[in-house]
Amino acid sequence: MSHHELSPSAFPAWAECPCFDSDEEERTNTLEGTLQHDALSNALKEQPDAYQHLSATARENVQWAEQSIRTLAGEDPIQSEVKLRYMAPDAFARGGQSEVYYGTADVLIRRGNHADLIDYKSGTAERDHRAQLAGYALALFSQRARIKTVRCHVLYGASRSSDSWALSQADAAGIVLPILEARNRQDRLPKVNSYCTFCRHRLTCPALLAEVSKAAAPAEWEEPLPALQEVGATTDPETLGKALDLARLIEIWSKAVRKAATELAQAGSVPPGYQLQSRRGTREITDTQQAIERIGIPPDSFLGSQRISLSKLADTYATTKGVTKKQATEQLETLVCDLIEEKKGTVSLVAAKQA
Ligand code: SF4
Repeated sequence: MSHHELSPSAFPAWAECPCFDSDEEERTNTLEGTLQHDALSNALKEQPDAYQHLSATARENVQWAEQSIRTLAGEDPIQSEVKLRYMAPDAFARGGQSEVYYGTADVLIRRGNHADLIDYKSGTAERDHRAQLAGYALALFSQRARIKTVRCHVLYGASRSSDSWALSQADAAGIVLPILEARNRQDRLPKVNSYCTFCRHRLTCPALLAEVSKAAAPAEWEEPLPALQEVGATTDPETLGKALDLARLIEIWSKAVRKAATELAQAGSVPPGYQLQSRRGTREITDTQQAIERIGIPPDSFLGSQRISLSKLADTYATTKGVTKKQATEQLETLVCDLIEEKKGTVSLVAAKQA
């Protein structure tokens, strides 16, 4: 799915740091979320096999969301994957308006001068998504003058919980416009926050580096270190929290350093004292029920699971047939070879072994 340069999906991060830019590689790692979004969209369009690519748990979570949306809509039509444009007055543009941003809302239900906007999240309620929904709502208000109130809903699949609130156009503008203004400022400054993990600038960001450099300052550790050495004795959770904050930021930066160094090493610049290490990707059974029938293990093994790892299947096969796990794996590689899918392997940079 394409994202506008000013996409509402980035508004929650910009509300915390106007310099945030999403790391595309981190975004592509959210495959499970994309699968669930596609399944929900297909289910709402009543397409057959909408849930076919989901695990049993993911299927139940998305089905819960689908049912919640249908209950909310009642007799009103449900629109899914709706592109919404925020149009602002522009005396120089044709028609007197120009597009400031656009985004794609998961679900829109219109009813007279009210509307419901729904966003599905495959995880739990860890973050505040109000700025994102305000972005969609403001765009909707700008496109449909008749709409006076938008009710926003975020459905969290993993916890099967929801968060709902209402916005007027003024409410939505009050949230969105300061975010856009801060983002568009030439002199915007970075501010360390919980989105740094997903930010493309985390390797070189001055705000993050300033926090990381504190780790080298002995004064910064005078308080937290004694508390860390004797956790049971500390009566001050704030002290531990301070040390943890620092540790978390160092971790974000050090992961970014490792990733950049690994990419450089793969391109030929291996740092002295290090070597590249490849690991084979995990192997998965793509159709568990078919595999169970073919190899003759109890039919209720792995109930409801579409995919399982070859290693798990080998454990059960070894117990049932009285063979070692190594023998089980070898036999399965022959018996169900057409049902095995190997995930992408990983490459990491590790300290070279001393000769
Ligand atoms: S790494 Fe820097 S620019 Fe990115 S979100 Fe964190 S503080 Fe902002």
